[in-house]
Amino acid sequence: MEQDKIDALRALKALVGHNIIDGRFHASASGREIPVSSPIDGAALGTIPDSDVEDIDRAVASARASFEAGVWSSLAPAARKKVLLKWAELIEAEALSLAVLGARDNGTDIRMALMAEPTSAAGTIRYYAEAIDKVNGEITPTRSNVLSLVQREPVGVVGAIIPWNFPLMIGAWKMAPALAAGNSVVLKPSEDASLSTIRAVELAHEAGLPPGVLNLVTGRGATAGKALGLHMDVDVLAFTGSGVVGRKLMEYSARSNLKRVYLELGGKSPNIVFADAPDLEVVAAQTAASIFRNNGQVCVAASRLAVERTAYDEFMEKLRQHAEALHVGDPLQLDHTTGALANAAQLDKTKAAVKLALEQGAVLATGGEVLHTDSGGFYHQPTILTDVTRDMSVVQNEVFGPVLAARAFDTENEAVEIANETVYGLSSAVWTSNLSRAHRMAGRIKSGQVHVNCFAGSDMTSPLGGVRQSGNGADKSLHALEKYENLKATWIQL
Ligand code: NAD
Repeated sequence: MEQDKIDALRALKALVGHNIIDGRFHASASGREIPVSSPIDGAALGTIPDSDVEDIDRAVASARASFEAGVWSSLAPAARKKVLLKWAELIEAEALSLAVLGARDNGTDIRMALMAEPTSAAGTIRYYAEAIDKVNGEITPTRSNVLSLVQREPVGVVGAIIPWNFPLMIGAWKMAPALAAGNSVVLKPSEDASLSTIRAVELAHEAGLPPGVLNLVTGRGATAGKALGLHMDVDVLAFTGSGVVGRKLMEYSARSNLKRVYLELGGKSPNIVFADAPDLEVVAAQTAASIFRNNGQVCVAASRLAVERTAYDEFMEKLRQHAEALHVGDPLQLDHTTGALANAAQLDKTKAAVKLALEQGAVLATGGEVLHTDSGGFYHQPTILTDVTRDMSVVQNEVFGPVLAARAFDTENEAVEIANETVYGLSSAVWTSNLSRAHRMAGRIKSGQVHVNCFAGSDMTSPLGGVRQSGNGADKSLHALEKYENLKATWIQL
């Protein structure tokens, strides 16, 4: 990656976002716009449509019409695959430009943005494109004078609502399996990070996706998002975001057409380090990465650390050094390891969480300060709080910022209690060289993922989803296709 190419891309100004409905660009029906500014320096970036019920109605009508016309839903899976593969190719060809655009919008450092956004999205689209002509229906084992077929049918219109932290990656986790299965989609990106998704949806049309099959409507959650959630003609809603909004979507479903709602929500993921972990230096490095990459604005961030007491002091000293070695600053400068928080609210939330934790008795091991206050952007030091207890807010509530809550433990049972002490259950990690203990812990921790002697090591083949109040259903893997399909049973008397 070269700094001068990044600098040239960041110099592009006046970005005017638009909705994409029926394959065409549209302003919002009301003509209202939302100004977009960059968390890097507060500079004005452009505008996106401030859409509302009328825009969502148009997008859903377009999706429904394309679905019923069969321009996509009736194509052979191999034909859909061809278009999706082309889309992945076009995204990859523009990867750096998409990554810079996204980083200007949400502050993610450019190395991570490139890997986790266009590159990951292209990989996801390829995965489902390649899968879709290889998944079969069933003939069930009935008596011989009956033929019982089970077919996987697309559900119809899928609404997808996504957050600002990784819009292309998370958007692809919804769009790719939904489209591969033959559905039409209406995507509502976050008002805090819409720009790169708009370009990605343009590229889908350049790849040959028929008009109306993938529609994008920008706008605020309380207007555009709510309209999609309440819509009577949306069959499935796929959401990634906060638990607060997840609850609302379930209410919207109950108040409208009982659409299926899949939720990928927040977490407070535990990271459990036993004294016999293979290499404490490696564990410290990965622990720092697991909470401080993208400033902790990662759903699976390991924001709670518990270390066996006999290794605690040594480990915490190594971890402090890794945290302090991180170089926080302008995400488009390659010498920075960590970029900006996504918006002012994220910075305020981080500051408030640290303040409250200290008031409640936590001890500041490192960090705690706002950085680059004269930049116009939103930067905060990687922060480690020790001596935390179960009742503290920083242990129970997601900060979604660069804040780690740490403490020591003495026994395996205590480690399990700590792991399961919140309402969440998204991800977790266990570090030990004792194979039996690793298996025991993996079985006892209540979370969608358990990492043993690593963190965040999975790929597209493995599902990502939460249990308890971290959500339901899973993104990634072949299982994600099931969210966007109905099983049709046909019983034929021979
Ligand atoms: P958010 O819930 O505030 O917003 C997410 C999306 O929902 C946005 O597009 C927003 O416009 C929309 N929205 C807001 N109010 C709405 C409403 N009333 N009706 C319909 N839509 C509405 O979340 P965020 O701040 O964008 O993202 C941070 C959250 O996302 C964190 O809690 C984080 O843990 C979670 N997250 C989870 C995963 C995962 O895979 N589990 C991944 C990334 C982020």
